[in-house]
Amino acid sequence: MTPRNRIVPVFVPHLGCPNACVFCSQRTISGSLCPARAEDVVRALEEARGKTAHAELAFYGGSFTAVGEETQRALLEAAAPYRESGFLTSLRVSTRPDAVTEEKLGLLRSYGVETVELGAQSMEDRVLRLSGRGHTSADTAAAAALVKASGMKLILQMMTGLPGADKGSDLRTAEALCALRPDGVRVYPTVILRGTALEALWRAGKYRAHTVSDAVETCAPIAALFQRAGIPILRLGLNPTEALSGGEAVGGAYHPALGELVYGRLWLERAREKLRAMGPLPRRVRLLVPVDCVSRMTGRKRANLLALRWEFGLEEVSVAGGQIPPETVEIREIL
Ligand code: SF4
Repeated sequence: MTPRNRIVPVFVPHLGCPNACVFCSQRTISGSLCPARAEDVVRALEEARGKTAHAELAFYGGSFTAVGEETQRALLEAAAPYRESGFLTSLRVSTRPDAVTEEKLGLLRSYGVETVELGAQSMEDRVLRLSGRGHTSADTAAAAALVKASGMKLILQMMTGLPGADKGSDLRTAEALCALRPDGVRVYPTVILRGTALEALWRAGKYRAHTVSDAVETCAPIAALFQRAGIPILRLGLNPTEALSGGEAVGGAYHPALGELVYGRLWLERAREKLRAMGPLPRRVRLLVPVDCVSRMTGRKRANLLALRWEFGLEEVSVAGGQIPPETVEIREIL
């Protein structure tokens, strides 16, 4: 997102949502449980117009197409003049897989919506059932196919560490999402939010929290998989907010820099693999990585370099940026 093309989020909380996912607390994520109205859209866009030349409007909240048609039309119509004037460069909505039909997508298209985000969360039906999602993996596959056929962009969201999930099932979910050929994905490791059914399960000992370290372990190979498949990861981990940092996240994988931790792990694994394959190692090595990946290779507080030094018995490990292919590490001896 550039400052000239910012995303204006409008939350459509719980409207039309037919069930209650165990992890969901829309109040914490969106800060509101009031239904969004046309005037909220206008207010958000007017505010953005004072700050930026162009913007994208995103209806978040997870169940846009499950909302009554009249409300959908009112919200989309409120945005129409901003689209016609060229201020809005795109519109996106997020919704549930079981609330997608050809007709509903047709309505979105007629208002110029370009991107549909589907909350897949898991492609394992047992996990979906235990999480109270109320839809199946087949619903997600069918909805994804409809979005692709409509010509709109498809973004898929998944969660790791849901009830009944483990590292293997989360990786299988990522593989299943790759097969649906989305234009991007968002990965959200499960956070236990105050007041949710998940909190009650956790406090009763019926759910083991997905810790930050579990999330890093689980998401590093998932991130590698999406990168290999050429699928952009648009978000990894919940956006940090004051409410979450201030105590609404009572457990689970909440960390304001979770994405950086995951990418740091990914680069650590790449360097490990390279060093293991090298045979006798020089005492002092330099890791050469693409210029924009130096800090991820280094890790927070140089954690990756310290880990490699210790694991491989090296005297010195440093990192430098170079003109090398993306997602690769080359090892050089420090002379
Ligand atoms: S579908 Fe689940 S996550 Fe989405 S709004 Fe409804 S309860 Fe919350």
